Amino acid sequence: MGNDGGTIAKRQDIISLHRELDAKNTGVNGLVDGEGPVCKISSLAFSGEKVVGDYKGFLYIKEKVLEKVLENLRNKEQVEGKKENDECELSHLRSLNDIVELQVTWQDNQMVCPVSVRKDVCYLRSCGCVVSFRMLNEVKKAGESDSVCPSCSKEFSYTHDIVRMDNSDERTEWNESKMKHLSEVLHVHHNKKPIKEKKKKTKKRSGDVDGESRAKKSKK
Ligand SMILES: [Zn+2]
Repeated sequence: MGNDGGTIAKRQDIISLHRELDAKNTGVNGLVDGEGPVCKISSLAFSGEKVVGDYKGFLYIKEKVLEKVLENLRNKEQVEGKKENDECELSHLRSLNDIVELQVTWQDNQMVCPVSVRKDVCYLRSCGCVVSFRMLNEVKKAGESDSVCPSCSKEFSYTHDIVRMDNSDERTEWNESKMKHLSEVLHVHHNKKPIKEKKKKTKKRSGDVDGESRAKKSKK
C-alpha cells in the first residue's frame, strides 16, 4: 500500500472547503439556529442523556423511546389505523431493535464530527458514531463498498450503514431505501439484528391453505 497520494483528506482541508455548507446543513432534528438538536418525541435537549437514532435519522432520548415503544405496543391497532396522522411518523418504533445508540461529539450544543469537526453529520448504523457525511464520501475509495468508521474503526458498509440527518430533499429517500434493503434483502432490523420470522400465521388465516406451520414457540 504505502503512499496512495492523499486519499485521506486532511482535517484542515475539509474544514475550510466545506465551512459554508455546514451553515445550511445543520440537521433535521428540530434544529433552530444556534440551538442544538432536540429529542423528536419530547422536544427536550440532550443534556447528558443517551442519544439514540432511528433509521429515518430522527434523534431521541433513549428513555423517551422506551416510553414510545410501550405506547405503540399498547395502542398497536389504533396507531396502525392512523395512517395520515402525525403519530404515524413514530409508529415504526416498536422495539429497541428500531434504534441505535449514538456516539456523539458535542461542541457548543451542536453535534460535530470528532474527526473533521464539521457539522454536516450523519451516523453509522454499525457503530453509532456521528460523523461528517461529506467526509465519508471524500475518503471513499473508488469501487469501495465497505470501509471502517473514521472515529472508532469499526467496519461499515457504504451501501446501507449511513443514516442521514441533514435537511436535504434526498434524506428521506436515502434513509428509506437503505432500510428497505436491510429488511427485505438482509432481513435485519435497523440495529442490524436479524429479523425473526414470527406471527406470519396470524395474518394469513383466511384462505391460506398450504401455509408452512411455523409452530416454533420460544421457550423462556
Ligand atoms: Zn464508529
